[in-house]
Amino acid sequence: MPKDRLERLNQRLLRFARERDWEQFHSPKNLAMALAGECGELLEHFQWLSEEQSASLAPEKKKEVAFEMADILIYLIRLSERLNLDLLDAVEAKIAINEQRYPAHRVRGDARRASEYED
Ligand SMILES: [Mg+2]
Repeated sequence: MPKDRLERLNQRLLRFARERDWEQFHSPKNLAMALAGECGELLEHFQWLSEEQSASLAPEKKKEVAFEMADILIYLIRLSERLNLDLLDAVEAKIAINEQRYPAHRVRGDARRASEYED
């Protein structure tokens, strides 16, 4: 996602909150809790599905999943605004950390976490 597009979303969400006087409710704590709630809503769509079923959602179900993913991103954007941090910079930095932590030649085909490797 280009930075300017993310910033436009950020400004739109900020305007949405301000027009409703909801900024007062958007503390980092509340936003983090709302984010976790939305993650739960996303999980509900996959609960009890087989691997195969989870990979072939019906169009209507897929739309519902997309909206839950949107809710998650919305709260992430709001949280990053309230914490005054650059979400895309954080994503870039974390990918770089993961590339270091999980060198492809060492972990190819291995889903264990770095802490589970024997050195
Ligand atoms: Mg939701």
